[in-house]
Amino acid sequence: MVRPVIELINRYDAGKFPKGESYIILSSNENPYPPAEDVLKAIERSIKKVTNRYPDPEYPELKRAIAEYLEVDVNEIFLGNGISDCIYNICNALLDTLDKVTIPMPSYTMYAMYSIVRDASINYRIYPYYKIDIEDFIESVRNSKLVFLCSPNNPTGNAIPIKRIKEIVESVRGYVALDEAYVEFSDASAIKLTDTYENLIVMRTFSKFFGLAGLRIGYGICKDERVVSALEKIRLPFCINYIGAIAGVEAIKCLDYYKKIRDIIVKERERVYRELSKFEEIEVFPSKANFLLVKSENLRLAEKLEKRKILVRDVTGLMGLSGEHVRITIGKPEENNALLNALEEILS
Ligand code: PMP
Repeated sequence: MVRPVIELINRYDAGKFPKGESYIILSSNENPYPPAEDVLKAIERSIKKVTNRYPDPEYPELKRAIAEYLEVDVNEIFLGNGISDCIYNICNALLDTLDKVTIPMPSYTMYAMYSIVRDASINYRIYPYYKIDIEDFIESVRNSKLVFLCSPNNPTGNAIPIKRIKEIVESVRGYVALDEAYVEFSDASAIKLTDTYENLIVMRTFSKFFGLAGLRIGYGICKDERVVSALEKIRLPFCINYIGAIAGVEAIKCLDYYKKIRDIIVKERERVYRELSKFEEIEVFPSKANFLLVKSENLRLAEKLEKRKILVRDVTGLMGLSGEHVRITIGKPEENNALLNALEEILS
């Protein structure tokens, strides 16, 4: 029999995957630009050689590249099949039945999903638009075995100031798992705090800034070697496929290319934010990520945009968001223009 708790949880909503027709896809916070030429070449070169072979399960080259990229010790790195898998493994490694897990909302739904799979007891704290009331939060995290934070946060786009993250980490006796999936689009990472705080686990991904979402490469940093060795022990031995491991190493070598793309996306984010702010019928929130959150009232924006072949994510109904909201990924300038034109039509 399937465990009742599994029957109760909702499947992760990954949005729509249109086939055939050409849509502008602004629904999954992907990077709209292609990989660097050298990344594609490395994939092409390796594909014949490695498809029938297992990768080295220790992934030494990938870990060395990440260590250099973030200026951390290679022994502080654990890997996963995307951050999603890191979240799953963290829950499996740290949570026993009824352990308290604190999650500020609205945020990414996988934290709760995998905590529930472990029969943990979830302490949701709702803060409008993820503006965490630090005193209230610190009071509420007491006795938490695990706290999930997301900065910049999905779907609100705002970042938690590093000073606040530090205060939270200091006040938690258990672990803080900080999701930095979008951090390269912002101006501040909390990675340096891992030097001081052994109970801080920072999760990162190649899916957003490095635009390798299809290859599934996630990783995390923690100073506590017991945690890193537990996470390395329980992950699937070949959790990142051979091609992904090669592409990840090459992508880090092409950092300048990705920084240029990031700068274009951030500039576009600010432009789209300004343009969206001009519509009286909607409210747009400032963002440090590669997407914007938009509030509307009974406008069914996601549906109307889809009719115009533009996909955005309807996040209406997410715990902690009241009223209709859509999350819009920043695309290439021409895609963003198409979005703005469609909204002009819908809202006029
Ligand atoms: N964390 C957050 C906050 C996300 O929004 C996403 C992607 N939707 C992920 C993690 C998943 O990242 P990955 O592709 O590395 O599994």
